[in-house]
Amino acid sequence: MKKIFVSALFSVITLSCSNTAMANNTAINETHLPKNIIMIIGDGMGPAFTTAYRYFNDNPSTVKIEETVFDRYLVGSSSTYPAPVSGYITDSAAAATAMATGVKTSNNSIAVDVDKKPLLTVLEWAKQQGKKTGVVVTSEINHSTPAAYLAHNENRRKYKEIADSYIDDGIKADIYLGGGRDYFIREDRNLVNEFKEAGFHYVDKYSDLKNMPENARVLGLFDKKALPWALDDSNKHRLSLMTKAAINQLENSQGYFMLIEASRIDLSGHARDISSAMAEMDDLAKTLEYLEDYVANNPDTLVVLTADHSTGGLSLGRKTGRDINKNIKSLFVWQPQILRAISISPKSFSDKFAQENLNIQQVNAVLNFTLSVDEMNLLVQAKQQGIKLLKDFEKLSTEQQKKRRRPSVSKPILVTIKNIIDVQTNTGWGTISNLGTHTAIDVPVFSFGSNSKIFTGFQDNTDIGKKIFTLLGDKD
Ligand code: MG
Ligand code: ZN
Repeated sequence: MKKIFVSALFSVITLSCSNTAMANNTAINETHLPKNIIMIIGDGMGPAFTTAYRYFNDNPSTVKIEETVFDRYLVGSSSTYPAPVSGYITDSAAAATAMATGVKTSNNSIAVDVDKKPLLTVLEWAKQQGKKTGVVVTSEINHSTPAAYLAHNENRRKYKEIADSYIDDGIKADIYLGGGRDYFIREDRNLVNEFKEAGFHYVDKYSDLKNMPENARVLGLFDKKALPWALDDSNKHRLSLMTKAAINQLENSQGYFMLIEASRIDLSGHARDISSAMAEMDDLAKTLEYLEDYVANNPDTLVVLTADHSTGGLSLGRKTGRDINKNIKSLFVWQPQILRAISISPKSFSDKFAQENLNIQQVNAVLNFTLSVDEMNLLVQAKQQGIKLLKDFEKLSTEQQKKRRRPSVSKPILVTIKNIIDVQTNTGWGTISNLGTHTAIDVPVFSFGSNSKIFTGFQDNTDIGKKIFTLLGDKD
């Protein structure tokens, strides 16, 4: 096995408090650096998502709008733009690299700079400082965001290479929890066995997290690819479950650095799926509430939460006629009521509706809200359209079929049910294209615990990385 870190390989960034963003913030308490640092990234979680969650979370039977855990710890905001070569809008790879290394890079880059040179990450530095390290995510553990803390690759899509590097470049974390089994148990290589040979305890079911050997290093891969939507998962609060388990394993006298990613908020934005977005946000909120208690008992811990970028152009509300909203004295409405009751993702619903012949009562029972007859008709038409597309495809020759994608009956149903939910809630999405896009909007920053004040005010995503380096005991 190669030596874990060859520091000379890395472009070393200089850390100083002279830049304006740092100078504007409260000084770091150098005699009381945090023992434990928990960095959380809500992938795609722009400000509309935390705002939407407040109203989703509201108890409508009380006059006040209940404060959320996000409201309690908002301290500032962050710009997210990548290196100039990639324009103004970042992807998850460049943004995670900025936060992991303090350096701007081009989109698709995993902890390498614009010249493809590897950059030291805060996780690697924490390990070198004698801390334990961990990653807990709802995507594959070798997906862009965790990879930018653990690997170096000019292309985020080299999933196998990135997975291989988790062994070949030296094992950098003590805990890996998330999805991605297919990248680790492959025909050509079984990385799970290699982790086991290196002394790791391997688990693949959430229930295994309850009784893990004390102080063990753990690899937990709970699905073949990313974890399911929170709405469809066997545990709708799997991020908080994994986080608790990881902290149990990571606690030690030297402290730890942990990266947590609520990965699927981004996918809900790409999919323009407000019901899945709220369920992912709820899982993250529960994780944060757990950490709120944890930090109260462990004040030497710092928690920082931000997003890498916003996704989907989510907007809350529509101007509408008074008569449609008898209970709301306003022309402008966003109505999250039905989202609170939905307990199946639109994707799973459309698969079910495609396969079974559900009547309107059955549909209402599955969705847990009331469809109008017109809306039910739209679903039936969508299914007929899907069936027709599939029949037309099946009439084609094998040669012709190879050239195009096999239509799925559930796809038009999915588009329709998401549209019904958007219309019922008055949720909007950026309209320049039908594909959910990343947007250039600044993201909120939340922080609590030891030295949390240094994240106050406006900062750049690279400042977040630089500040964490400083909190880990500066190199210079
Ligand atoms: Mg991500
Ligand atoms: Zn994305």
